[in-house]
Amino acid sequence: MRTQDRKHYTTIQVDLDGLWAIEQLIGKDVPIDPDPVFIMGLERLLRLFEENKIKATFFVVARDLGVGRKVELLKDLVARGHEIASHGVGHRYLSRLGKDEIKEEIVESKIVLEKALGIIVAGFKAPGFAATKEMSVFLEEAGYIYDSSVFGTSCGFLMEMVSGVPYMKTDMFFAPSVPYRPSRSNIFRAGDSDIMEIPVTPMPFFRTPAHFSYAVIGGSMYAGMVRASFRLASPEMINYLFHPLDLVDSSMVTMSGKVYGLDTKANRKIDMARKMLTFLCKGRTVVTTKELCEVIKESDRGASEAS
Ligand SMILES: [Zn+2]
Repeated sequence: MRTQDRKHYTTIQVDLDGLWAIEQLIGKDVPIDPDPVFIMGLERLLRLFEENKIKATFFVVARDLGVGRKVELLKDLVARGHEIASHGVGHRYLSRLGKDEIKEEIVESKIVLEKALGIIVAGFKAPGFAATKEMSVFLEEAGYIYDSSVFGTSCGFLMEMVSGVPYMKTDMFFAPSVPYRPSRSNIFRAGDSDIMEIPVTPMPFFRTPAHFSYAVIGGSMYAGMVRASFRLASPEMINYLFHPLDLVDSSMVTMSGKVYGLDTKANRKIDMARKMLTFLCKGRTVVTTKELCEVIKESDRGASEAS
């Protein structure tokens, strides 16, 4: 934990979606191994993390644990002090599944990750932010401490139009964008659940997506707007998200040619990521998401003792 400033925190999350998980979105079947995301993308991102002494939280799809070389890379992340959390079993969108299948994605992925890596998994994130209302109960039952599936954004309609994924758009629109305890009947609202919701932080004021994929798509002007709004709003906690896929050479990714901005040269994208990370670390304590939950619990205890 870096402690220049006790009041402001950054947690860096990484959705470690393999190339297979991304390409299946456009109906393309690519092998699970070798995977440029786990080799090129991850290596580049880790180098940037080391420059800033960042310990991040990696959301891992359990299916990738079937590949020995990926397991070794993940064990190395654990040894370096990063946190591993769950990103489901097969990167399926929960909003397209029935209750039993949703439960299975949540429960099974935790078991697989814990067994293969010898760790305790504290966090979960639904692929594609496709959260469903009843998730909090399943997460509680499975023994998670926190969830990061909720994305409080004004762009749910746009996201659905682009990806075709059914989103809880109105709930997303009104969902908190700062950490909260969700309701047991609706994860998008505050309530009395035992788990904590740590949403990925949208751009302050506008609530548009701020994470790195959108910096790539929106270009450096948009990335500059994100930094300016963070500076102005100065949120106590920022949860910033990366996909290592964004640092892979674009020639290796079919999607690059189809989405504006994704064909940006790798060196340029690495520079953009470096600039964003330097900004996110400046004057802030950088913690893993599990550590952030401890910080929140501690301050809640302090507040209840004071009253
Ligand atoms: Zn994902």
